[in-house]
Amino acid sequence: MDKIVVKFGGSNLKTLADIKRSAKVVKAYNQHIIVVVSAFYGITNTISEAIGEAILFPEEAGKIMQRIRSIHFETADACAAGADEKKSLLEIIDVRLKELERLLKGIHYIGAVPDFTRDKILSYGERLAAPVVAALLRSEGIAAREMLPENIGLITDGKYGNATADLAASAPLLKASLTFQETAVVPGFYGTAKDGRCAIFGRGGSDYTAAVIARCTGASSFDLWKDVDGFLSSDPRVVPESKTIPFLSYAEAAELAYFGAKVLHPRTVEPLEDAGIPIRVMNVEKFNGTIEPYTEVAQDRGITEAKDAVIKSVASSEDLGILQIEGPGVGSRPGILAWAAGRLDAAAVNISSVITAQTCINLIFKKDDLAKALAVLKADVVGGVIAVEAVEDCSMIAAVGSGIRDSIGAGASMLQALADEHINVVLAQAGASPVAMYVLVKNRDRENAVRAIHSMTREDSWEK
Ligand code: ADP
Ligand code: ASP
Ligand code: MG
Repeated sequence: MDKIVVKFGGSNLKTLADIKRSAKVVKAYNQHIIVVVSAFYGITNTISEAIGEAILFPEEAGKIMQRIRSIHFETADACAAGADEKKSLLEIIDVRLKELERLLKGIHYIGAVPDFTRDKILSYGERLAAPVVAALLRSEGIAAREMLPENIGLITDGKYGNATADLAASAPLLKASLTFQETAVVPGFYGTAKDGRCAIFGRGGSDYTAAVIARCTGASSFDLWKDVDGFLSSDPRVVPESKTIPFLSYAEAAELAYFGAKVLHPRTVEPLEDAGIPIRVMNVEKFNGTIEPYTEVAQDRGITEAKDAVIKSVASSEDLGILQIEGPGVGSRPGILAWAAGRLDAAAVNISSVITAQTCINLIFKKDDLAKALAVLKADVVGGVIAVEAVEDCSMIAAVGSGIRDSIGAGASMLQALADEHINVVLAQAGASPVAMYVLVKNRDRENAVRAIHSMTREDSWEK
C-alpha cells in the first residue's frame, strides 16, 4: 500500500458541490490516505474580518459570526448521512462556533488581540471544515476520522503567526497516530507550541501541514489538489495564457513559492526535499475518476545543456519596500551590515533580501515591516551612514528555471523584455540562487512586468 497524503485547499472547498467532489476524489484512491483540509473558501478571511471588528464593534463581529454559522450548519447538514451522524456533527460544529464566539468576546473585553489568541481564532476555519469532510467521507462508505493536530503531536517552535514544525519532536508522535489503517482527516494551518497553545503556519499554511505530515509519516507522495492545471508558468489571473509546467525541481518550486506564486505555501518544499517525497499537483475541476498529476515536483533531474534562455515560470509579490542605507563606502566598511542586521533582528523585523553597492546598502522588506525598520535604524545611526531612506510601493518579480545562473543571456532577456515595455527596474538581482533571479519594480508596473517576463518563458524548458 502506498502512503499518500492528500491536501484540499479552500479553492477545492468553495461550494457544496466542490466539497462533495473532493470526497469523490478521496474515494478514487481506493485505499486509506491522510487528508489535510483547509478552511472552506474565504472563511479564514471572514474570521480575520471578525477579529478586526471584535474589539470596537462586537455587533459587527456577531453579524459575521452569523454568516460563518449558517455556512457551516447548512454544509454540515448536507454532508452527514443519517440522523445520528447529523446530530453529532451539528453538535461538534456548534461547540466549535461557541468557542470561536467566546474567543472573539474575550478580545473585545481585553481590548487587544494577543498573538497566541489571534492564531487560535484563525485556526477555526480548519477546525470547522475537518469534521464536515470526515462525516462526508463516512457517508461515502470510507472509514474516516477527524484527527486534530493537538491530539496527534504536530509540534511547532511556537512562533505565533509564522510557526515552523519541529520535525524531530513531531515525527514519532505523528507516525504513531496516523497509521493509514483508516482515513484521517486533519485540519491544516496550525500545530501546537511546546506549551500546548495553537500556532499557525502563516497564510496558506495547510500546504505546509500536509508536507510536514507526509515527511513525518514517511509518505510516498504528497498530492495537492488545486483549481488549476497544476503549477503554471505564471499566475493565470495575471497571465491568462499561462501553461502547465509538467516537472519542477524542488529548488524551482521553493523559489517560485518564496517569490509569491500563491499556489504553494513558501515553506512546503522544506520537509519534503531531503526525504525525496514528490509533490503531485492535480486539478479537482478536471477530475474524471483517475489520479493523474499535471505537475510533479521532485529531485532535479539535471539540465543537459545550458540554454540561451531558461525561464520556466514567473512569480510576483507586491507591497514590498526598500530601505536604502547610504554613505560613502558603506559597501566595503566593516560592521555596517552587521549593525543594521543586529538592530533589526533585536526588533524582530525580518529582512526579505539584501543587495549592497559601495555607496548604498539596500534592504528589502514586506510593506508592514518597512516603517518599523526605518524607525529602528534611524533611531541609532552608526558612523559612516549619512542617510537611511525608504522606497515604498515596490513589487518583486522573479524568473525561475534550472540553469538560470549558469546560462548566458537569461538576465539580459529578462531586462530587455522589461525595457521593451518601458518598465523601470528599481533593483535587480541574479546569481543568489542557481534557479532564480528577480527585479523590483513599482507596484503599478507589476502586472505588465510579469507579462513581459512571461513572454520570455520557453516551452521547451517545460519538457518533462
Ligand atoms: P488553495 O486554496 O487550494 O490552497 P490557492 O488559492 O492558495 O489554493 O492557490 C491556487 C491559486 O494560485 C490558483 O487558483 C491561481 O490563481 C494561483 N496561482 C498563482 N500563481 C500560480 C502558478 N504559478 N501556478 C498555478 N496557480 C497559481
Ligand atoms: N485557511 C488558511 C488560509 O486561508 C490556510 C490555508 O488555506 O492553507 O490562509
Ligand atoms: Mg493555498
